[in-house]
Amino acid sequence: MSITLLVALVYAMMASAAAAQKCSVKPTAISLGQTVRVSCQIAASSARLNGRTVRMFQQTNGSWFGLMPVAVADVPGAYSVEFLGEDGAAVASAKLTIRATRFPTQNVVLAPQIEALHSTPEDIETLTAFRKSVSDERFWDDPLTAPIPGCVLSPFGVKRLHNGKPTGEIHAGIDQRSAAGLPVHAVAGGAVKIAQTFAVLGGTVALDHGQGLETMYLHMSKLVVEPGAQVKKGEVIGYVGATGRANGPHLHWVVYVNGVAVNPQQWVALKACGAEKAKPSTK
Ligand SMILES: [Zn+2]
Repeated sequence: MSITLLVALVYAMMASAAAAQKCSVKPTAISLGQTVRVSCQIAASSARLNGRTVRMFQQTNGSWFGLMPVAVADVPGAYSVEFLGEDGAAVASAKLTIRATRFPTQNVVLAPQIEALHSTPEDIETLTAFRKSVSDERFWDDPLTAPIPGCVLSPFGVKRLHNGKPTGEIHAGIDQRSAAGLPVHAVAGGAVKIAQTFAVLGGTVALDHGQGLETMYLHMSKLVVEPGAQVKKGEVIGYVGATGRANGPHLHWVVYVNGVAVNPQQWVALKACGAEKAKPSTK
């Protein structure tokens, strides 16, 4: 092999390695119910994984960034995340492994009058519109702060039974232990989208942190923010209660990434409550 050919070959290999690194996913292997961070050094307006497409946004450092949720119901396996330009054509791709993940089952004991609570079509419409909205401006930064200091009574993804009957629902957030009346803090800056009391969810605040990240806080006794307000990270939004479908005071909170409920414990470090002290609680 001539020197010229060898040099050309080395350059070609370097160029292809550089092209492969234009876009990346982090982490490259993930459990069900978690969030993959997708980023590009070249312009990419969206990323697609197994039929799910999320928007990407140019950051202040010039790179492009987005949040890809992996739902609890997704199928484990080896995937390719495609990065798409403005015209929808693929500009790069990166490999992602979704690991098989087991979620435990939990029975929740509810009083009949509490089990009988139901959401109205208007409630469902309000909550769905919130979940589906993705706003352009980013108000959040790592790390998020815990809304309250309490330990985790019930983790994300648990298959729920109510009074022994399967509900077909998974626990779409986490429950943290708290006495009633303690303040609940925004995990990041954001816009207040919902601050109202629902039959099932109780006193609820929903925050849009921008660029696909949203959080929601339930069962609160008192809400101290109004829809349309802007909150800072750590600001008090309400107080822990037992309103709605709850059998005692606790905070249930949810992280939505581009409309999909994901595990808050990937975002905020929290300890599980000791098994002997854990009390059943509900969403
Ligand atoms: Zn809950």
